[in-house]
Amino acid sequence: MPLLTELEKFKERRFSINIALLAERATPFVRLGIGVKERPMLRKRIAILVFLCALPLSAQDQRRPLALKPARVFDGLTTTPHTEWVVIVRGERIEAVGPATEVKIPTDARTFNLPKATLLPGLIDAHTHVLLHPYNEASWDDQVLKEPLALRVSRATNHLRSTLLSGFTTIRDLGTEGAGYADVGLKQAIQQKIIPGPRMLVSTRAIVATGSYGPKGFAPEFYIPQGAEEAGGVDSLLRVVRDQIGKGADYVKIYADAAMGGAAIRPTFSLEELKLAVEAARSLGIPVAAHAMSKEGMLRATLAGVETIEHGDGGDAEVFRLMADHHIALCPTLAAAEAYSKCRGWHPAIDPEPDELRRRRTTFKEALAAGVTIINGSDMGVFAHGDGARELELLVQYGMKPAEALRSATFVAAKALHLSDRVGAVQPGLIADLVAVEGDPTNDITALRKVLLVMKGGEVYREP
Ligand SMILES: [Zn+2]
Repeated sequence: MPLLTELEKFKERRFSINIALLAERATPFVRLGIGVKERPMLRKRIAILVFLCALPLSAQDQRRPLALKPARVFDGLTTTPHTEWVVIVRGERIEAVGPATEVKIPTDARTFNLPKATLLPGLIDAHTHVLLHPYNEASWDDQVLKEPLALRVSRATNHLRSTLLSGFTTIRDLGTEGAGYADVGLKQAIQQKIIPGPRMLVSTRAIVATGSYGPKGFAPEFYIPQGAEEAGGVDSLLRVVRDQIGKGADYVKIYADAAMGGAAIRPTFSLEELKLAVEAARSLGIPVAAHAMSKEGMLRATLAGVETIEHGDGGDAEVFRLMADHHIALCPTLAAAEAYSKCRGWHPAIDPEPDELRRRRTTFKEALAAGVTIINGSDMGVFAHGDGARELELLVQYGMKPAEALRSATFVAAKALHLSDRVGAVQPGLIADLVAVEGDPTNDITALRKVLLVMKGGEVYREP
């Protein structure tokens, strides 16, 4: 029986449970030795039992060690892929990695021959919103105000599956945008194998300064539910930071600036408030990610001690140098910027590049020149889930070498997110989150679009 992918197992689970129940009922008849001929129902049940005996084979298959033989291995640690390498996976971990001449393949291993493929660590997207869907399908306001929570969660389960099957085995989801703590439940559903999806770091509702977020534009006498949790000042900030962490946030996401009332982007929290939030989170062992699009917002977030800055549109050489000095990583979210431009009517094949994207190109180059750590974070949700490779394509278009972009989505991201002792590299002892793509993405980053194999924790979710 062929190895069932985890995805197929999800589909089959319900069927197996029904069969198991029938088998349980049939067992006493078999024990009593009641004649089969005169019992047509029993005949049927025994047939089911025989079928059942075959079912656990798939589980046995899953427990067999796996030997992966790709054309090359991009291990995430170096920029040059290794040819003629073999990777052995046993259980949920990588057991051995190295030249085929040195690594012994266990005799009971199931072998994946991937002669045209590059094997790489499962990809990481450090900025997603699984509870959003593209704004050309429904505006952000409508998603926050009109879509029932159950609808949003249902969509999110599809988003998580698409993300995983496109090769992203870890995401940091930065805010539910009005969907409360649904990310905490989705993370649990994945951990409990109720739905397929990537590993999730979640941040729950995210924190905004009172009055700074949306939806906006309503009569001021009405209270409109907001897309993030409002806070400000010592008492309220401490309460909200601790409350979100208490409810399951792995990261605190705070908005250092906002376009107040649709006007220019301005910093919202004071430096002291940001420091307070960072301190409160840090003392509970939780890092902070700051949304910052203005130079002043980025400066304050940097000085406050956040660990990552999201977007960074308004950065310049000075602020990027400061970020580099303070070891603060940047999630550039280039794919979201592109999606916004397209939403506003930009047709890349016909129209010249919009000013805002040209500016992003310049600031991104300044960030690279200043030596800022770039981690792959796309703002997926603003554009389609499952299209996460777009961010890596843009990282390359905007100036990174393909292998560096791949590192920013593997080892570099894992390190920045405190996960490098578990994932982010093809290395013995790490969890077997692995992806194989056709071609060599260190030459042509678009090879990431041709995903052949996805493995998470040693379990195969997609196979050639
Ligand atoms: Zn975002």
